[in-house]
Amino acid sequence: MILLVPIGPVPIYVISWLEDKLNDFENLEAKVGKAVPLPRTGYDKERQQFEAEAVSQTLQAIQCPEAERIVGLLDQDCYSPGLNFIFGQADINGREAFVVLPRLRQNFYGLEEDKNLFKQRILKEIVHELGHTWGLPHCDQPGCVMLFSDSLRDTDDKSAEFCPRCREKLPH
Ligand SMILES: [Zn+2]
Ligand SMILES: [Zn+2]
Repeated sequence: MILLVPIGPVPIYVISWLEDKLNDFENLEAKVGKAVPLPRTGYDKERQQFEAEAVSQTLQAIQCPEAERIVGLLDQDCYSPGLNFIFGQADINGREAFVVLPRLRQNFYGLEEDKNLFKQRILKEIVHELGHTWGLPHCDQPGCVMLFSDSLRDTDDKSAEFCPRCREKLPH
């Protein structure tokens, strides 16, 4: 089972769409877990960002033996040391991953809101991070969801699917 966990407030339309989209993903059921509060530590006031490690720890603390994977959704900007921002992070071969929503919105860049594009971007980031939790490295096959993206253009250009080579490495 994949447990989707809102970390702090996350728009409900996003959560229910993802639950539906991810249900049966790699033969796993998707469920929405109880929202957890934003991390009490790790907020950098100057940067106005959470530090990724604090977010990871929040997810690590969740007890849910039925969950094969826990995917956190954070609607607050986030960074990792050495990186100005991150779209998501995963525990390689581990249980937890999370995606960071603000920079996936068109409005963040002064553009008109596009809820559909926003949802697609979140889905691609989730599938990408789940790929890492199953040990997949980045991939250079055009369109593969495991392509490294450090810009939204890369995210928009790729699909939400694993290429055949990546798919072969999946455990399911
Ligand atoms: Zn990656
Ligand atoms: Zn691939």
